[in-house]
Amino acid sequence: MEAAVIENLHDICKSIEIENKKYDKHCELIAVSKTKPNSLIEAAYSAGHRAFGENYAQELQRKAAELPSDIQWHYIGHLQKSNINKIIKIPNLFCIHTIDSVEITADIVKRIPKERESPINVMIQVNTSLETSKSGVSTNEEAIEIAKYILSCEKLNLFGFMTIGHPLKPEEGFVKLVETKETVCASLKLDPRLLKLSMGMSGDYKEAIQHGSDYVRVGSSIFGARDYSKK
Ligand SMILES: *Cc1c(COP(=O)(O)O)cnc(C)c1O
Repeated sequence: MEAAVIENLHDICKSIEIENKKYDKHCELIAVSKTKPNSLIEAAYSAGHRAFGENYAQELQRKAAELPSDIQWHYIGHLQKSNINKIIKIPNLFCIHTIDSVEITADIVKRIPKERESPINVMIQVNTSLETSKSGVSTNEEAIEIAKYILSCEKLNLFGFMTIGHPLKPEEGFVKLVETKETVCASLKLDPRLLKLSMGMSGDYKEAIQHGSDYVRVGSSIFGARDYSKK
């Protein structure tokens, strides 16, 4: 298992490098380790990888406590008031990708530990496919409102925008996310070069890089299919 993870990681990194060269990009890889044991994360870590993504607050809290402190954790799961405390206390939490309301943002700010020195990077999740099963804002107006609020919070750093592509037509969502970012930047007079895009997963990361992704979130192609029954 561990050897396979290292090999898969190597293959994905190579593939991302090829796409980056093609489109003159610097897209980075977040290895999505949800439901996977520490041993597999440690395998990727031993191969030099540091950015990992998790969806479940309690699982992330446990793994962050057990694994090396120079891992950069990305929280990519749904945010609820009840799970904010678990996430926000992790000292090496690098970024929350799933902000979708002013209310949840205000709740995060309230709970950030006093001892935390650096602002927390946050991304606004956009529901580009408008599937009801997915979280995220559905209009540019909402994205502007939340971005404005985040910019007013000293403890937060507006890091960018995130989306989950539609399984059948992911590229439409990627185009929409680029458009949302441009609209927010124009409206709030922000430099678009300073804001990132988090889009692309195992099935569509190459298309995402083509459309300008800065962070692809790849899970199953590295760690294998997930078995939720064993979680
Ligand atoms: C699980 C998950 C991923 C990784 O999906 P794979 O298809 O396994 O690569 C990426 N982003 C989010 C938000 C996820 O929940």
